[in-house]
Amino acid sequence: MNLHEESRPLVVVGAGPAGLCAAMEAAGAGLPPLVLDEGSQGGGQLVKQIHRFFGSREHGAGKRGFEIAVELVSGCLEGGAEIRLGHRVLGFFRDGRLLVDGGEGVFLLRPGATILATGAVERSFPFPGWTLPGVMGAGAAQTLVNLHGVLPGKRALMVGAGNVGLIVAYQLLQAGMEVAGVIEVSRRVGGYLVHAERLRREGVPLFLRHRVVAAEGGKEVESVLVEDMETGALKRFLVDTLCLAVGMAPQAELAAMRGCRLVHVPELGGFLPWHDREMRTDHPGVYVAGDLAGVEEASVAMDEGRLAGLAAARDAGVLDPGKAAARMREIGARLELLRGGPFGEPRRRAKERLCSLPGSARGREDGDRVRRKGRLKKR
Ligand SMILES: Cc1cc2nc3c(=O)[nH]c(=O)nc-3n(C[C@H](O)[C@H](O)[C@H](O)COP(=O)(O)OP(=O)(O)OC[C@H]3O[C@@H](n4cnc5c(N)ncnc54)[C@H](O)[C@@H]3O)c2cc1C
Repeated sequence: MNLHEESRPLVVVGAGPAGLCAAMEAAGAGLPPLVLDEGSQGGGQLVKQIHRFFGSREHGAGKRGFEIAVELVSGCLEGGAEIRLGHRVLGFFRDGRLLVDGGEGVFLLRPGATILATGAVERSFPFPGWTLPGVMGAGAAQTLVNLHGVLPGKRALMVGAGNVGLIVAYQLLQAGMEVAGVIEVSRRVGGYLVHAERLRREGVPLFLRHRVVAAEGGKEVESVLVEDMETGALKRFLVDTLCLAVGMAPQAELAAMRGCRLVHVPELGGFLPWHDREMRTDHPGVYVAGDLAGVEEASVAMDEGRLAGLAAARDAGVLDPGKAAARMREIGARLELLRGGPFGEPRRRAKERLCSLPGSARGREDGDRVRRKGRLKKR
């Protein structure tokens, strides 16, 4: 079968904050890209975030996520980028072509350069009853409530006291659900205390050093059994919804298909494509940005996107290297600030370690497990 094929100087996969900022920067530098996203709205995770963002003005602090998404999409279109929604990239072949499902058919794209900004996926973990209806990722619950206006149930228990768990628990309350509590295996709250305080004020208890033993019920969740890890005592919560907010992992399949080198970095969410400080992978013309390049925050995703867009434009010969370097220094300094403080510091160190691994090297590197398609090496 002969598939229709299009050529484009630059294709960006993913219209989240990373992809949109990459597209805006590349377009501004004279390389307007084609942006593809499988979703029906541009903005990635931002479209379902109704809380006000922290951070600086450049990253939309004080605005709600969905408002930032609208601004980024307009900025891209005004800059000359083309955005095609409802377009899922199914494959990234070794010859550099992308296989795209545009809804009405499958076609091939031959990009001069490609920026992958596919974000992250929610993690889960197995326990008795984990397949019962009512057990879901916190992000899935957030999508139901904030995008589709549907409550996942009447009473929920949240697993995980990181930012996602705390924010989504509060949003479930705002939407009209009861939240029986937030349980967390570690000794401390992982997210910002301001989010934890908000829940406490609403009377939602936080249980540190507690773990899920089982979700119970006939056809769907009716209760959840939880263990106090200090005393061994068991508690039963009568809930119909169990939300898991136990971390995100970079969505690295397309990078892996292309043959990009993947490196395991626990502080950044697991396996992710190796990249340098300019977001270039070990394959010339393939760049990464955002949660795919390490799970952090939207503000970081935006700035990494900008770096990838600049690098792609410079490498394509449309942006003066001196101008690119000056703008990259400015963005690099902002990223240093974003990665400051007790939350950012471990990620800053991990990113530093990753970027200083030699790009052309194959095989094992200090302290890292390096996987090439289907092959995992342990040191
Ligand atoms: C509940 C919650 C609250 C948060 N609050 C904050 C906050 O207050 N401040 C902050 O800075 N950050 C916050 N974040 C984090 C932030 O949302 C993410 O870090 C950010 O969205 C990552 O951007 P991204 O562009 O890398 O990925 P995403 O936003 O996930 O976008 C990736 C896009 O790629 C598309 N895609 C993936 N695969 C394909 C494919 N094969 N073909 C086509 N399209 C594809 C997806 O549809 C998606 O639109 C929060 C996250 C959550 C879950």
